[in-house]
Amino acid sequence: MARVYAIASAKGGVGKTTTTANLGTVLSMAGQDVVVVDGDLGMPNLAGALGVDPDGETLHDVLTGETTVESATYEGPEGLSVLPGSTALEAFASANAKELHPVIEELKERYDIVLVDTGAGLSDDTFVPLKLADEVLLVSTTEREALGDTEKTRQLGERIGADVVGVVLTRVNQSNPNADEVASLLDTGVIAVVPEDSAIREALSTQVPVVARAPKSIAAAGYRALAEALTGNP
Ligand code: ADP
Ligand code: MG
Repeated sequence: MARVYAIASAKGGVGKTTTTANLGTVLSMAGQDVVVVDGDLGMPNLAGALGVDPDGETLHDVLTGETTVESATYEGPEGLSVLPGSTALEAFASANAKELHPVIEELKERYDIVLVDTGAGLSDDTFVPLKLADEVLLVSTTEREALGDTEKTRQLGERIGADVVGVVLTRVNQSNPNADEVASLLDTGVIAVVPEDSAIREALSTQVPVVARAPKSIAAAGYRALAEALTGNP
């Protein structure tokens, strides 16, 4: 039975989608059977980070019962499976995040690891994956505001009984992170640090995740360390 991770933070733009794409790719490169799911039903952009063009059916169609999980799953880089969302506004209006439950159950049967990218805020898009996941991986930059919002997500997770494994600090500059400040604002351990790296932007423009496109970059090293910390495998 697979392990399910929700990748979460109430703050937008902190690197949740980048983390889901790269962690998924690293784990797949290491030989694990991995699927990444775009649980950000309002603003899905995981497919773009992985070079997948969801020209056919998507997670939204699965949630409305119009198609099967299998038909909405695409092949991403390095053998990674991708369950993308639809960017159409109508699709968002008709999909219900609560229907994610059977979808994740089905994926658990087929894969070793299920990573669910989540949206910003504290709506159902986030709440449902937190509830479904075995583990919640928080993502935050080191800015005060981002840490505060991420702490809120941690508290929500705690309230609903989710198991929070820690936080990945992203876009970290040389002078950061100030470990004491992070600890005072966010009540969980730092599991990995991913430096600010222009290779991430370059990777995004080519739609190949940085761990595959620029494995020697500092960001790729950060994501490999994260995979190792989570699974105990390099
Ligand atoms: P979220 O999913 O939390 O909204 P994204 O993963 O979409 O955040 O990242 C937001 C922006 O930050 C993107 O443009 C992404 O390319 C950029 N970014 C993420 N991580 C890094 C990093 N380590 N270095 C530089 N840019 C990054
Ligand atoms: Mg995102």
